[in-house]
Amino acid sequence: MTGQNAEFIPPARPVIGEAEIEAAVRVLRTGRVVQGPEVAAFEEEFAELVAGRHCVAVNSGTSALQLTLMALGLGPGDEVIVPSFSFAASANSIRLVGAEPVFVDIEPGSFCVDPAAVEAAVGPRTKAIMPVHLYGHPAAMDKLMAIAEKHGLAVVEDAAQAHGASLNGHPVGAFGTAGCFSFYPTKNMHSLEGGMITTADPALARTLRLLRNQGMEQRYANEVVGANMRLTDVAAAIGRVQLRQLADWTEQRRANAKFLDARISAMVTPPVADNARHVYHQYTVRVVDGDRDAAQQRLTDLGIGNAVYYPTPIHRLKPYLNADGEPGPWDLPETEKAAAQVISLPVHPSLSQSDLERIADAANVAGGAA
Ligand SMILES: *Cc1c(COP(=O)(O)O)cnc(C)c1O
Repeated sequence: MTGQNAEFIPPARPVIGEAEIEAAVRVLRTGRVVQGPEVAAFEEEFAELVAGRHCVAVNSGTSALQLTLMALGLGPGDEVIVPSFSFAASANSIRLVGAEPVFVDIEPGSFCVDPAAVEAAVGPRTKAIMPVHLYGHPAAMDKLMAIAEKHGLAVVEDAAQAHGASLNGHPVGAFGTAGCFSFYPTKNMHSLEGGMITTADPALARTLRLLRNQGMEQRYANEVVGANMRLTDVAAAIGRVQLRQLADWTEQRRANAKFLDARISAMVTPPVADNARHVYHQYTVRVVDGDRDAAQQRLTDLGIGNAVYYPTPIHRLKPYLNADGEPGPWDLPETEKAAAQVISLPVHPSLSQSDLERIADAANVAGGAA
C-alpha cells in the first residue's frame, strides 16, 4: 500500500500542451479569431466522429443544447423528457427556452435513461426526448429512437461526456435529431470552452447556423431572432489539436478502466451494456451497503482524487422544486440510489501504471472500510 505522502492523483487532468499553445498563438497572429477558417475546419474534422453528420460549432455544450431546442421551435407549453441523474445543464437548457423538463429514472446498469420510463412519460405536451450518455456510456438509443418515432418526438442527445462512444458500432451524436457535445476542459477533449451540434438534417443545420449568429447568414441581412453563441478560432484551433489525440486518449481511458475493473473488488465497478462502447469520461463505482462519505474520505487520505457526479439529482435542485420548495411528484428510485452510492475515480489518459495500481488498491481499502 502506498503511503500517505505519495503524490495526489487528481480526478481529471485537462491537457494544455505545447501543441495547443502553438495553435492558439498561430491563430491570434492571423487576426481571424471568431467563426473563421479554424471553426470551419473543426466542424469538418469533427464530422468524422459522427458518421459524417453536419456539425455546427458553438461556444459551449450548454449553448449546443439550448440552440438545438430553439431551432426545433421548443418553448412555453412544451415538455422534454430528460433523466434527473445528469448535470444541471441538461435540464437548464430546456428551461432556458421556456419549456419544461419531465424527469425520468435511469437504468441502474448504464446510469443512462430507462427507455420504459421514457415511454411511460410521453404525454400530449411532449415534444422531445433528451437522453444523456452519462459518464461516456451510450444511452439505449435503439430503443429510444423507436419510442421517438412511434410518438413523433425529436431526440436531442446530450453527448457532452461521450465523444467517440457508440452503440452497435453507431456513434453517439449520430442517432437523434441532433447530438450536442461539450469541449469544457475536463471533458474527454476540450477547446477551453466550446460545443458542437451534430445533425443529419441540412435544414436544421442551417437554422442552427443562423441562430448562433444573430439570425444572419449574410451580414446585416438578419432573417430571424438569433443569439450570439459563436465559437472563437482560438478555441477551434485548440479543439482540432485535441481531436487528433482523441482516439489515443479514448483507448487509454478504456485500457485504464479495464485494469481497474479487474483489480477493484470492494466496490461495484461500472457495468457496460451489450454492444456499447464506453469511453469512460468518468469511471464510476458504487459503494453498496456502506458509507459513501467515509469511502470518499479514505480515498482522499490515500491521495486519490475522487468526486460524486451528481450528489443531488436535478429534480432536487432548487430551481426545479415546486412552489412549496418540494421536489415534484417524480418517482425516481434508481436515480436516488445512484446519487447516494456513486464515486468517480480517476481514469484520465495521463495516469501511469503505478497510479492505476494505487487507485485500485485505495478503492479496495475504501470499499472494505466503508
Ligand atoms: C458538461 C456538460 C454539459 C454542458 O457543457 P458545457 O460545455 O459545460 O456548457 C451538458 N451536459 C452534460 C451531461 C455535461 O456533462
